[in-house]
Amino acid sequence: MEYKDKIYLDYAASTPVDQRVLGAMLPYFTDIYGNPSSIHYYGQQAENALENARDIVAKLVHANPGEIIFTSCGTESDNLALRGTAFAQRKKRNANHILISPVEHHAVLHTAHQLAEQNGFEVEYLPVDKYGMIDPSDVEAYLRSETAVVSIIYANNEIGTINPIAEIGGICQKHGVPFHTDAVQAAAHLSMDVQRDGLDLMALGAHKFYGPKGVGALFVRNGLAISPVQTGGKQESGLRGGTQNVPFIIGMSEALKITNQECEKRANTLIPMRDKIVGTILEEIPHTLLTGHPNKRLPNHASFVFEGVDGNALLMMLDMAGFACSSGSACKVGIPKPSEVLTAIGLSSNWALGSLRITLGKETTTDNVEAFLEVLPKIVEKTRSSK
Ligand SMILES: *Cc1c(COP(=O)(O)O)cnc(C)c1O
Repeated sequence: MEYKDKIYLDYAASTPVDQRVLGAMLPYFTDIYGNPSSIHYYGQQAENALENARDIVAKLVHANPGEIIFTSCGTESDNLALRGTAFAQRKKRNANHILISPVEHHAVLHTAHQLAEQNGFEVEYLPVDKYGMIDPSDVEAYLRSETAVVSIIYANNEIGTINPIAEIGGICQKHGVPFHTDAVQAAAHLSMDVQRDGLDLMALGAHKFYGPKGVGALFVRNGLAISPVQTGGKQESGLRGGTQNVPFIIGMSEALKITNQECEKRANTLIPMRDKIVGTILEEIPHTLLTGHPNKRLPNHASFVFEGVDGNALLMMLDMAGFACSSGSACKVGIPKPSEVLTAIGLSSNWALGSLRITLGKETTTDNVEAFLEVLPKIVEKTRSSK
């Protein structure tokens, strides 16, 4: 089977770089290559482009340019948000408590674990309902005066659920506690507004919205106490030392601009395809559950568990049939262990090990969806009978 005959249904893991984004990036590799920190003409050209990209990103998320910190990826943004805030808030007001949800991406989860194990922070987990959603009133109940940072994922990468972030932001603001959201997945589909949502910190990663891999951003509200994690030069307001990756940053700003212009139109084509997948799979495949919220979910996201199915075997058989899907989080190798997210929403391992995530994108066609729905029931049946 040729590469071009394969069907990509894993846009939550990564997306192709939009041609317009690539076009915007190219001059910055070879023509405008100065170091933005340099005094001379070459440096100024690069700096102008960098600051223009910062203005664009800031405007799109309703922030000030000085509140946008460019990083190397969504993961780094989450690390800086948690670690940087935890250390600074401890120093400023002796805050040692970190409040997160159990359905965070590993970029948040594992950072919080390390802050607990190596730095003595107390990490507490909020309850989630069966859709993986956080109840704002629980946030209010769990908050303490010594909470250093609250971190809640905007839209879940594994199960697609969109959290009531604006309500949670309002509660954190009322109590004066820093609030971070991992919007890496959400920003590909929803317009972001740090004012509307009462955010102090927000992580973005370009490769989830048709930008290049290896570049991200963190919104840091003006005046928030936060320490750098990567120390070095004075770049990025002293919060992230290291010469900026100008071409990739240009790419991210262009990708976010296009996403904001097109996301509504994209959603209008994605939602019917997503709903077709959900409806057909639940109807045709027995012992199947939709994971995540039935409608408060990302427009491109369909995720399931099949009872008694080996999820990895399912993915491999789909791959052989020409369909690239995922079990949820992109890094699942080795011994099968049920995902933390699926465990947190109450699924036993007999269900959770049989997970499948189908995420659509701007290149997905209804023919792709038809072809997928044609083969999936047979493949699930085959993995069940081979057990
Ligand atoms: C992909 C993803 C990340 C990590 O972003 P990278 O840019 O790949 O490091 C973090 N959080 C969520 C929700 C994601 O989907």
